[in-house]
Amino acid sequence: MQVEGVNPEQRTICIDNSASLKSLIALSHEIGHATAFQDMSDEQRERFVEINDTFRKCARYGKSIKKEILNEVLRSERDAWAVAIKLLKPAIKSGLLAKEDLLNYVHSIEGQGLKTYSKAIDRMIEKRLVEN
Ligand SMILES: [Zn+2]
Repeated sequence: MQVEGVNPEQRTICIDNSASLKSLIALSHEIGHATAFQDMSDEQRERFVEINDTFRKCARYGKSIKKEILNEVLRSERDAWAVAIKLLKPAIKSGLLAKEDLLNYVHSIEGQGLKTYSKAIDRMIEKRLVEN
């Protein structure tokens, strides 16, 4: 079961279905990915899917991975968060969402935020699985 994420081939965004601020933040992030897909060719979208699959498989099964793929994964995550933060600005301005909570979510929460990726990458580096 896919917890949270975006699938450009199936044109779906998956988030948990509770109407919490956490869900709103997660949805904004996935919209960030969807926004990036708009400007991509079919080949670029296919590459996005392929790169993310490769990253997940390598992280899960301890397989070696090219540095270039890690950079692409991180770039797409950062770009999606940049869009999410932009989308959520009105919520911050209105006091519905604290900026610190949003940034904490983006950087510190495991399972959804950038920390998940950086921890997985740290483990790959420790195990010398990252190839140039
Ligand atoms: Zn993402």
